[in-house]
Amino acid sequence: MEKIAVFPGSFDPFTIGHESIVNRAASMFDKIIIMIGYNANKKSFFSIEKRQKWINQIFKDQLKIEVQLHEGLTVDFCKEVGAKYILRGLRTSSDFEYERAIAQVNKKMHPEIETVFLLTLPEHTPVNATIIRDIIFHGGDASMFLPKGLDMDEFKQEKKG
Ligand code: ADP
Repeated sequence: MEKIAVFPGSFDPFTIGHESIVNRAASMFDKIIIMIGYNANKKSFFSIEKRQKWINQIFKDQLKIEVQLHEGLTVDFCKEVGAKYILRGLRTSSDFEYERAIAQVNKKMHPEIETVFLLTLPEHTPVNATIIRDIIFHGGDASMFLPKGLDMDEFKQEKKG
């Protein structure tokens, strides 16, 4: 049976921290589905189309990694796609506390699904999508925190709307 993991997040935007978690987990699973979770009533900074396009671009040569969109519970998505694992990254103790509660509730409700955590690389600990959005919003250069090979002009255009 295929070992499928879902890596859920808002990825607004997808950073080098996210990229590293996916690349490190790639040898552990047959397939990783990066699930961009969205809420039709909540406004994001980058459009869902752009986020999806960027992630597809980053992993275009890695056939076992795909991107899908989902509105609703991650566990429901896991069932839809036949995934038994949820992949999450941990940076700090506050990440841990937040993730622990969600993973334990998920485990109670859906014991067949395991949440797997990877600790961030030390150099990625401060890489945070909220801070990166702020840099971009104020016209700064966030390229060192974003995966290579993306068109940086597209990030600037988003700021202007
Ligand atoms: P969410 O809104 O669900 O927290 P994010 O897009 O912020 O979604 O993050 C998705 C996942 O990636 C989470 O598990 C988060 O902890 C992890 N993550 C975010 N930034 C990093 C990083 N720099 N290093 C490792 N993991 C990270």
